[in-house]
Amino acid sequence: MNYYSTGNKALRSTLKDAVLKGLAPDGGLFMPERITPLSKAWLENPPMTLREIAFDVARQLIGDDVPIETLRTIVYNAINFDVPLVALGHNIWSVELFHGPTLAFKDFGARFLAGLIEYYASKEDREIFVLAATSGDTGSAVANGFYKRRGVKVVILYPSGKVSAMQEKQLTTLGENIIAWEVAGTFDDCQRLVKKLFVDDALNKKFLLTSANSINIARLFPQTFYYFYAWSKLPRGSRPVFSVPSGNFGNLTAGVIAKWLGLPVARFVAATNINDVVPAYLAGSNYSPRPSVTTISNAMDVGDPSNFSRLLDLYEGSRDNMEKDIAGISFSDQQTRDVMKNVLNEHHYQLDPHGAVAYLGLRQFQLSTGSDSPALFLETAHPAKFAEVVEETSGAKIALPASLEILRNMEKKSVRVSPDFDEAKARLLQS
Ligand SMILES: *Cc1c(COP(=O)(O)O)cnc(C)c1O
Repeated sequence: MNYYSTGNKALRSTLKDAVLKGLAPDGGLFMPERITPLSKAWLENPPMTLREIAFDVARQLIGDDVPIETLRTIVYNAINFDVPLVALGHNIWSVELFHGPTLAFKDFGARFLAGLIEYYASKEDREIFVLAATSGDTGSAVANGFYKRRGVKVVILYPSGKVSAMQEKQLTTLGENIIAWEVAGTFDDCQRLVKKLFVDDALNKKFLLTSANSINIARLFPQTFYYFYAWSKLPRGSRPVFSVPSGNFGNLTAGVIAKWLGLPVARFVAATNINDVVPAYLAGSNYSPRPSVTTISNAMDVGDPSNFSRLLDLYEGSRDNMEKDIAGISFSDQQTRDVMKNVLNEHHYQLDPHGAVAYLGLRQFQLSTGSDSPALFLETAHPAKFAEVVEETSGAKIALPASLEILRNMEKKSVRVSPDFDEAKARLLQS
């Protein structure tokens, strides 16, 4: 299978190039040149377990670019946790995507990407270096996903004093092949350093440099798995509505790819906080990116969603077609806080702020359309990751899951670096 660039369909790459380069040479995003639906027999009788479903879907997407048994190992290692569906009243389920090691759905993408890159590393004579600038969550999923992978070193650059104490522990306590650079600067400084290091000749001679950022096509693929799995747990013949809490729209793009693969879907709901450029576009405005605004669902504070170009590509630039599949709805922080309170009282279920936006989207969609399709919303993070808002809306302390509790007593190991390029380059060359 080849991968084209959303900027220029004539630019083709192999899966390996698409995964290791991340971004196409013209700055576009990679897309698979074909998405072939799963067979009718499979869709009528899908396997029982998440891992089996994941493997079949991965195989359908990736074909034989990766040896089949290698692909099975990558998928089974990546998806080593469960996705429970929790019923909230009649015909509505929370799809809990936060049972991976860093307690957010980004574990799916990061762990799968890490497996693929380790496979490519086994065929290279140069060491692979993954550089990742992070403002928090992506970095912890990447650090965890790549931990102890052979032939791969990861340098995580994070802004000193600007990530939460828990996030810092997640980034800095692993050690081994995970190196945490604590940069005396902002997130933008980290990102600028990474961009310059990537294009440096001396570094590229010595190492194979790659990134693990969210536009990598290999991070989208594993996000199709849980759409199929959640659907497979509904009564046979169901055509559900999926509500997706959206920021960069990778999660929703994966849902649309799943639909192209044959997943029965009544409609997607693209639920956002007040950073609503995509819902506004779907409602008829021009697509107009703007600086993001800070909210309590901060992993969705995105003013120019990177995967929007992939969505446009899937719908061949047609807003009408996109709108037939996707309803866009946005909500304020006050609405988000209120629904967290109400759902806790009514259903004894603690939403995190991101899942709360998705739940709001689902309810509003049902009210405005009268839809009685089975309704699923994606719960993307464990509520303990957003303890402050959760405790304020519930009025009670939330217990830390064991995996976060352990981190408390672990020792932080970071390298303090200045945002100076020459210094960073010299340090990397010595690694
Ligand atoms: C990243 C993230 C999102 C947004 O996902 P996109 O794929 O960027 O739309 C939603 N919720 C949580 C908890 C996240 O970490």
